[in-house]
Amino acid sequence: MILNMHTSSAFPYGVLILDTHHMGRTHVVASYVLLGDEPAIVDPGPAGTLPSIEAALAQHDMCLSDIRHVVLTHIHLDHAGATGLILERNPSAQVHVHEKGAQHLIDPSRLINSAAQLWGDQLETLWGRTVPVPPAAIKALTGGEHLHLGKRCLRAYDAPGHAKHHLVWYDEESGAAFVGDNVGVRLPQLGFTRPATPPPDVDIEAWQSTLDLILALAPRWLMLTHFGGYNDIEFHVADFRERLLRWADIVRNGLASGASEEEQGAALEAQAQAECASLSEDEQAALTQQSGAIALSWRGLARYWQKKGATR
Ligand SMILES: [Zn+2]
Repeated sequence: MILNMHTSSAFPYGVLILDTHHMGRTHVVASYVLLGDEPAIVDPGPAGTLPSIEAALAQHDMCLSDIRHVVLTHIHLDHAGATGLILERNPSAQVHVHEKGAQHLIDPSRLINSAAQLWGDQLETLWGRTVPVPPAAIKALTGGEHLHLGKRCLRAYDAPGHAKHHLVWYDEESGAAFVGDNVGVRLPQLGFTRPATPPPDVDIEAWQSTLDLILALAPRWLMLTHFGGYNDIEFHVADFRERLLRWADIVRNGLASGASEEEQGAALEAQAQAECASLSEDEQAALTQQSGAIALSWRGLARYWQKKGATR
């Protein structure tokens, strides 16, 4: 379903938002299409929801073979899982990805294995069938590049924090910054963000620099995968930064306290619950689906502090 037409003044020019309807729920995983001479899809979403993308494209008289570029913020399965399937259907498309993630698109076995550790036998139900991307299709980037899509120019920025292979893409024409998961998750109409900090490479220091970078870009829009476009940039980033640091502190203090892992996880769970207490039950469920389980975020933050040796 198309939520906002590119003709709407309340949305970046020439950008379509597609709802992948992940697990049948709206507003969980978004994908974006950049219209123009060389149409591009930003984060096509999980492999399992490709039919939703095709249906949404069809509403605009487009199909997968019209897509010239797959532009990835990062390679997590909820963002990039469909890339291999798209290349099967459209072998001439180019894939633009951080160099630290490129290898895992070519051989997704490590990505699939680590996802299997997180989600067990729910893996395929949640994310579908993730297939390899042909190496010849891949353009590996470090950040700092300009990607010219016809008249449109996208600038790539190295943006670690949520993942070390994360890029932020800034579209000069619309002023939209495609930020992936680097400014958390948020439901449309709500003035409320939540961190998503899954293992293995959450880095709070790097993340703070990435937030500064995003502010310095002064985008007109923040385009979140989970979910949608927001133009209250200062509020959004400040709200997110505060919650991220608060969560990181809770996990650090928990590790130092000597409490059991169960008790520490429960403390973060209680914090998350308190923060969203004013939302409806349905909104709370959607938020948790967007961010992943709080237990997963606890593990990502705990791993960060343990790597830093900050827990003794
Ligand atoms: Zn995500």
